[in-house]
Amino acid sequence: MAGVSISTDRGGFEGGDDDEASRLITQLREEAQLESKYGNLDEARMKDLHSRNEDLKKGMQGLSSVRSNASKASSTDTDGLGPPPAAVGLDELRSGGIDDNENPDNWCCMCNEDATWTCPGCDNDNYCEECFRESHIGPEADWEMKKHRPRPFIKASAK
Ligand SMILES: [Zn+2]
Ligand SMILES: [Zn+2]
Repeated sequence: MAGVSISTDRGGFEGGDDDEASRLITQLREEAQLESKYGNLDEARMKDLHSRNEDLKKGMQGLSSVRSNASKASSTDTDGLGPPPAAVGLDELRSGGIDDNENPDNWCCMCNEDATWTCPGCDNDNYCEECFRESHIGPEADWEMKKHRPRPFIKASAK
């Protein structure tokens, strides 16, 4: 029988205990509205600091409200930012440049950079600016290679 009366109280919002509960709910709602109105982290942090002060007076009740505020703020923050920018940038770089980068004919034969020179003297090997200079012009270059006359590299078509 007692169980029946309790469930009635919960449903009706008229019992004496519900005043306390609805007061808490109203308070939480006001806090949520404030947060969404100002919509910035500073506000949440201010509130957080304030609530922490109150914690010292109120004990566990205040603590749980701080926790719910903090988790709310951080989850909103994550939603707004989306996935970490670094990861997205990397993916975009890889998928965006796929037409050029995936064709080995366009690569330098030494370092896999984009080629800028084709050297007929090296069986039409392709070189990037840097590697061509190192292997054909610079102090490390073989003297025979210095005689090679490169052509500007013409990109192989993607298909
Ligand atoms: Zn290279
Ligand atoms: Zn060469």
